Amino acid sequence: MPCIASIALALSLASAEPRSAHVTELTESVDPSRLRATVAKLVSFGTRHTLSDTASESRGIGAARRWLTAEFDALSRAPGSRLKHFEDRFTCEPGPRIPKATELWNVGAVLPGVDRARTDEAIVLVGHYDSRASDAMDAVSDAPGAVDDGSGVAMVLELARVMAREKPAVAVYFASVAGEEQGLFGSAHLARRLKAEGVKVLAMTSIDIAGNTEGQDGVKDNASARIFSEGVGVESDAQRRLREAVGGENDGGAREWARYLKRVGERYVENLDLWVMLRRDRIARGSDHLSFSKEGFPAIRLTEAHEHYDRQHQDVRVVDGRAYGDDLAHFDAPYAARLARALLASVAQLSFAPSPIRELTLGGAVSPDTRLRWTLPDDARIAGVVLYRRRADAVEWQVVSSHPRTDSLVLKNAVPDSFVFAVATVDGEGNESLPTYPSKLE
Ligand SMILES: [Zn+2]
Repeated sequence: MPCIASIALALSLASAEPRSAHVTELTESVDPSRLRATVAKLVSFGTRHTLSDTASESRGIGAARRWLTAEFDALSRAPGSRLKHFEDRFTCEPGPRIPKATELWNVGAVLPGVDRARTDEAIVLVGHYDSRASDAMDAVSDAPGAVDDGSGVAMVLELARVMAREKPAVAVYFASVAGEEQGLFGSAHLARRLKAEGVKVLAMTSIDIAGNTEGQDGVKDNASARIFSEGVGVESDAQRRLREAVGGENDGGAREWARYLKRVGERYVENLDLWVMLRRDRIARGSDHLSFSKEGFPAIRLTEAHEHYDRQHQDVRVVDGRAYGDDLAHFDAPYAARLARALLASVAQLSFAPSPIRELTLGGAVSPDTRLRWTLPDDARIAGVVLYRRRADAVEWQVVSSHPRTDSLVLKNAVPDSFVFAVATVDGEGNESLPTYPSKLE
C-alpha cells in the first residue's frame, strides 16, 4: 500500500511545517492592548452611523473618520515607516438607506510593494468603521459598534503598524471603509476604483465581527474563527466550461485564499481552529468582501465562530434583565489578537512570496498518472514549487510537498479523477504564493 503510507508521512510533515523567524517576530508584535484601545476610542464616538454628525469633534462619523485618518497618518510618519497615506472620498448618491447625497470616506494606508515587475498587484485588508443601532436609519442613538466592526478596524490598524517597515513584493492596502451597514457602499467604491486603476487584487479579506467569544448558542469559545469564501467567482462562459471539465467548483481564488489563511494562520498561532466555511457568508447576510467578489477579486470574510445577536445591530438597552448592544465589555482583545496574528502571518508570507505559476495544465485523463505542467514566471526569487494535493472528497489539502524549481511533475498512480492538485511557488525563506489551480487541459 505505498500510496497510503506516503500520504500519512506527508501529513505528519505538513503539521510540522517550519515557521519563519521573521514572520514569527511580526506576529509577536501584535498587541492586544492596542486593539482594545482602538475599539474603546471608536466606541467613544457614541455612534458612527453613516448619516450621523460630521461637525462634532467628539461624536459621530465625522469625528471618527478624522481620528482614523490621523492614526494612519501617524503610522506613515513614524521613523522607518514605508506606509503611504491612502484616502478614497466620494459622494454616495441617494438610494435605499441613503436619503440624501452623502460624502463617504475610506481611509487607511498602503504599503508599497518593491517588486518592479508586480507594481499592479496588491493584497487588501478591510474593516468597516461605520456602525448602526436597531433602526438602520437611526443616525442619533448610541451605536457603539465595538465588535461590529471596531474589531476589524482595530486589526487593520494594528497590522498596518506591525508591517509598516516591511518590504513586501506586492502592495498591501490597510483600509477602514465607510457605509457598510447602509449597503457596502465604501467597499464597493474602493473595489471599483482599484479595478479601474488596473490593480490586480491577489487576496482581499474583510475582517468583520471578530472579537466576541460568548455565542448566543451558549458556547464560549476563544480558540475558533470562521473564514467564509465562495467556491466559484465571476467567470466567463469559457471559464465555466473549463471549470466544469476540471471539477474546479471548490477551488476558486477565494477558496484557495481561505485555505491559505487556515494553513499559515494555524501554523503561527497555537490552539487556533480556523473553519473554512464552504459558503460566501452567513445566511442572507454580507460584508465588504462581497464588493470585491463582484469585481472578480478573490475575497473572504474572517469572523468569530459564535456570534451573539443581542450584541449586533441593537440599541443599547436592558429589557427584562436582558442586555442588548455592541459594547466594549464584550470585545475579547486577547482573542482578537490571536486572529490578527493568524491573518498577519498569512498576509506577510503572501506579500513576501514570489510570483505564482501561470497556466497550470492538467493531463492524464483516462490514465493512472497525473501530469502537471506550467509556466514559471520570470522571477529570480522562485527557489522551488509546492504541490498541494487532496482527494476530491476532501475540504483541506491533505498532502503538501516541496520540489526544486521545475515546470512539470508526473504523479505516478495518482488518478486525476480522484484527486485535486494545485501548484504554488516558494522563495528561499518558505514564503509561498497562492496555489494555482489547473486552467488548461492537456
Ligand atoms: Zn459589520
